[in-house]
Amino acid sequence: MTQTEPSACLFCRIARGEIPSKRVYEDDDLVVFHDIRPAAPVHLLIVPRRHIDSLITAEPGDQALLGKMTLLAPRLAQENGATDGFRLVVNNGPGGGQEVSHLHFHVLGGPRPWR
Ligand code: AMP
Ligand code: ZN
Repeated sequence: MTQTEPSACLFCRIARGEIPSKRVYEDDDLVVFHDIRPAAPVHLLIVPRRHIDSLITAEPGDQALLGKMTLLAPRLAQENGATDGFRLVVNNGPGGGQEVSHLHFHVLGGPRPWR
């Protein structure tokens, strides 16, 4: 599914607080919440407030935002119970298995086995 209209986009709506989520972090640029269908004991989604479809459409001006998302991952993994490491996953486009067309980083961790 391709969904690029911010008014209807699921993660835009979660970022605006129109749809509830279990938030663990937010600032002016980002919201972070628990994945509704966790694939691991710790499964967070790091989501920019501003709509970007994916890394495929990210631009040079997004470099600082992407760096911020990346550097936030280890901190939030640790704070939320992934104490011995984590996996960072970004699905991009239909061929990459992306289901929600608003850029997001999956932070996965915690005791194994995972789903
Ligand atoms: P992706 O396949 O990379 O686009 O991942 C989308 C992720 O969003 C999946 O892991 C879903 O479980 C998750 N998801 C879908 N709807 C919600 C929601 N309302 N709240 C939190 N996570 C969601
Ligand atoms: Zn969006």
